[in-house]
Amino acid sequence: MTKKIAILPGDGIGQEIVAEAVKVIACLKKEFGLDVELEEALVGGSAYDDCGSPLPETTLELAREADAVLLGAVGGYKWESLDIAVRPEKGLLGLRAGLELFANLRPAILYPQLADASTLKAEIVADLDIMIVRELTGGIYFGQPRGIRTLKNGEKEGFNTLVYRESEIRRIGKVAFDIAAKRNNRVCSVDKANVLECTELWREVMTEEARRFPAIELSHMYVDNAAMQLVRAPKQFDVMVTTNMFGDILSDTAAMLTGSIGMLPSASLDENGKGMYEPIHGSAPDIAGQGVANPLATILSVAMMLRYTLDEAEMAERIENAVRKVLDDGLRTQDIYSDGMTKVGTAAMGDAVVTAIRQG
Ligand code: NAD
Repeated sequence: MTKKIAILPGDGIGQEIVAEAVKVIACLKKEFGLDVELEEALVGGSAYDDCGSPLPETTLELAREADAVLLGAVGGYKWESLDIAVRPEKGLLGLRAGLELFANLRPAILYPQLADASTLKAEIVADLDIMIVRELTGGIYFGQPRGIRTLKNGEKEGFNTLVYRESEIRRIGKVAFDIAAKRNNRVCSVDKANVLECTELWREVMTEEARRFPAIELSHMYVDNAAMQLVRAPKQFDVMVTTNMFGDILSDTAAMLTGSIGMLPSASLDENGKGMYEPIHGSAPDIAGQGVANPLATILSVAMMLRYTLDEAEMAERIENAVRKVLDDGLRTQDIYSDGMTKVGTAAMGDAVVTAIRQG
């Protein structure tokens, strides 16, 4: 049956990079029989300009009825002074909440051709391929009670609540184990079970849940050690699964190991594997409209969509191989450019990926 993809380019470079990802999808449709239809809608600042809301009801409806969502990025200087309730970022948060996307997948992949872009030694990071699975809708970012109160002595006190139910831990564990089964069968669960009871439960439930996945090798690591290990010897990890806050921090650390945010895709999934796919970077207003943005993170987001929602792993590989090929050929957008390489713009990079997919 034809699957529907909601295309939400958003703001800034979002328009330019999503256009290249759409070229890739069109090529897979035409040449390899990918059975999808696309429908585009506004989100973020461009939606606010159009109708006064960063997430129009029609956009949310489209995202709900679609099988997957491809998002560019939202935000920009133009909308920074707006009331917080209608800022472009609210569009993104509204989509995540409206679609109940509880699992955030953040791969940190460093292509050997770009190993010099990392601040770490090339031998530590070349060929890095980690998947961080972050719980996205629970934990301390959402726990109640929360707030700032004034104590009897007049001093103020801020407080938040770290809370996870067994079912929440189990479902994010299942996502991580399923993903590891498609990779190298290893999951490292990151917690702070020596100090926080909530993550003591996290560890217990992960261990229980892992019994349903006998092929998976589960290990546990305290978050402080995980932060150290990520910069000391990151290639030891396959899949890491962790809480909302720990995942927020560790996924950004892992992203920086690769040295280029223009290369990294991400996914947020719901209970049924439906997902929103987007590059990890923002709308880059400083370079928007210049045709120089790197479209590879968005193109690789399409590969994730094919693998995790559309069940088309072979087509995902076609995209990933094509990206490797263009890097091998020395093509670089300005953010990943180094001496001796060929500098290209956004559209030329997209075209080169399409050609490489065709040539397979
Ligand atoms: P950013 O990721 O947009 O840009 C950071 C730096 O990286 C900039 O110098 C930019 O030019 C560069 N960069 C980013 N993506 C690139 C690409 N594909 N190719 C080449 N260079 C690239 O982060 P920022 O500057 O902190 O934020 C800009 C706007 O984006 C803000 O409005 C912010 O709120 C928004 N934002 C949106 C998202 C999202 O939509 N998911 C995420 C982060 C930031």
